[in-house]
Amino acid sequence: MSQEIVIIGGGISGLALAQNVLASQPDRQVTILEGSSRLGGRIYTQYKGLFEMGAKRVAENHTETIKLLKSLGLGDRLHFKNLFESGETAYLDGEALDNVNLFFTKLQLVNQLKQILGDSNPDKIYRKSTGEWLRAMGMSRQDLVKLEKLYGFSDEFRKSNAGEGLPYIISILDPDLPYSQVAGGLSELVDRLVSQLKRRYSDRLTIKTNCYIDQISYLGKKGFRLVNDESEKFQASALVMALPPHALQQIKMSGFPEGAVQRLEHLLERKVPTTLLRIYGVFHQPNLFRHCEPIITDLACRHVTPIKSENNQLSYAMLSYTDGPGARHLSQLLEQGRYRPQIKKWLTTLYPSLRDRLDPSTKLDIVHYLWEPAGYYTAPGSPHHLLNRELRQPFGKLDIPLYLVGDTYSDLPIWIEGSLRSTREVAKLLKRRETFQPMTPEMTSESRERGFKIKGVLNRIFRDCPDRIWSSQDILDDPNREYLLVLGGYVLNVEKFVETHPGGEAILRGCGNGQDWTRKFQRVQAHRGQRKLKRIKAYLSEKSLIQCLGRFK
Ligand SMILES: Cc1cc2nc3c(=O)[nH]c(=O)nc-3n(C[C@H](O)[C@H](O)[C@H](O)COP(=O)(O)OP(=O)(O)OC[C@H]3O[C@@H](n4cnc5c(N)ncnc54)[C@H](O)[C@@H]3O)c2cc1C
Repeated sequence: MSQEIVIIGGGISGLALAQNVLASQPDRQVTILEGSSRLGGRIYTQYKGLFEMGAKRVAENHTETIKLLKSLGLGDRLHFKNLFESGETAYLDGEALDNVNLFFTKLQLVNQLKQILGDSNPDKIYRKSTGEWLRAMGMSRQDLVKLEKLYGFSDEFRKSNAGEGLPYIISILDPDLPYSQVAGGLSELVDRLVSQLKRRYSDRLTIKTNCYIDQISYLGKKGFRLVNDESEKFQASALVMALPPHALQQIKMSGFPEGAVQRLEHLLERKVPTTLLRIYGVFHQPNLFRHCEPIITDLACRHVTPIKSENNQLSYAMLSYTDGPGARHLSQLLEQGRYRPQIKKWLTTLYPSLRDRLDPSTKLDIVHYLWEPAGYYTAPGSPHHLLNRELRQPFGKLDIPLYLVGDTYSDLPIWIEGSLRSTREVAKLLKRRETFQPMTPEMTSESRERGFKIKGVLNRIFRDCPDRIWSSQDILDDPNREYLLVLGGYVLNVEKFVETHPGGEAILRGCGNGQDWTRKFQRVQAHRGQRKLKRIKAYLSEKSLIQCLGRFK
């Protein structure tokens, strides 16, 4: 029987999830409800001058993103290079900086830390000293003085201990990784995906824009009732919210089991939002930046790029972004038209030689976009992968499936890649629920026959065991934790088994978390009720689906 899946949010997560479900589950109907008039969410190319107002870069290790781009015929639009190989020069106070690579990273880190410091209680959270952190980053006192000048750091920052948030931030910013932009704009990805969806699944997919969901009521086995801002009602038998936390928090939820909504709120509180403002200004004076290299800095002025304007004249465009609480302030200034003098001031700081030429009559076209908030970080102190995992199914077991997808609930927050990864996992969960089939009598008797071989097969798996020693904590910290099984003193990864075997997830649910299953396996013969373990044995003897990762300490 077909089940209607409703996805709230038509960003890349919602669209990719729809594609995944429609392609792999032929009897599903999917409805996407998008609040704005435009699909794509935080992917948004401004075609006037071709600027990415939202997502911009794809890293070489973003495998899911690259796969999607290739599948949509956009593979040849990617040309990876290290960000700093292009000879771009970073300037600070008008002076070129020697080591752009390092400095760029540092600036980003410091900016993020400043944001986090503003949002959390530094005394409680940051244990390592700033000095220690600076040394670890290879930063000199002079660098710090420059940064303090640039950002206007308070004395409080100097005293704060900035250690905790760092490993996480470093883990998501890798300056050595080659990155690429999508020539022609990332919105092309969204456009092609949408037209492919419409072409292939016109009979099973409904996309509704301008449909902002205000309320969600849980009706138990009957599903969910959704109400939009025009009081239209929708019914869903499975619900996926493809929304970042701030959008999620705007929705009124009712009828959920006691404590469920509070649990969601509690989980979301662990997310630290980062507001981000992206601006571009087009300067109609072709010679204005004649002597300037493109620049990289986390000041409001970030890139200066020559572009051809509509009448084919060469102009210069400044693309910039600024994040943290300052972004909101700057956007207000922009709204009030008071930003131009500020931009000119920054430009003359970066390019002292422009001082005479950037007079008040210099024509600037400035467009800005405030993403609020654009990124989320896990508040220091909470293990982000566990939190993100819990957020994908925030209410635990309901009678009807409800999942969250999006970069924020993945191990790669702030990247499209994170969105796609969380989407893939939720598509699997949706599929399993429907396709779970009890074993047929033939399969069961086959399992019984093969059961006796189990020991020998496990021995073979254990023989290929790598040297690594695992602790419970290693298992807890592993992103694949839910697929890790401890058996006979060995750590096994059963992901392939779960993927290949229909209903595999149901069989192995709860095997992770560092639990030792050895005794359960030993007792399996004695307990007729433990049929699921027998099934695992049967499958073990049938296929090489289980990988041994090392010894368990
Ligand atoms: C300035 C900026 C730069 C970035 N740079 C990069 C980059 O270089 N590389 C990269 O990989 N990623 C980057 N990202 C991140 C990337 O854009 C996101 O990870 C990705 O687009 C998130 O997609 P999503 O579908 O999960 O969420 P969104 O794109 O936020 O989609 C959510 C959708 O839900 C809709 N919505 C919200 N509330 C409701 C409601 N109540 N009812 C119905 N609909 C609703 C919204 O309108 C939106 O369309 C950047 C983001 C920003 C903002």
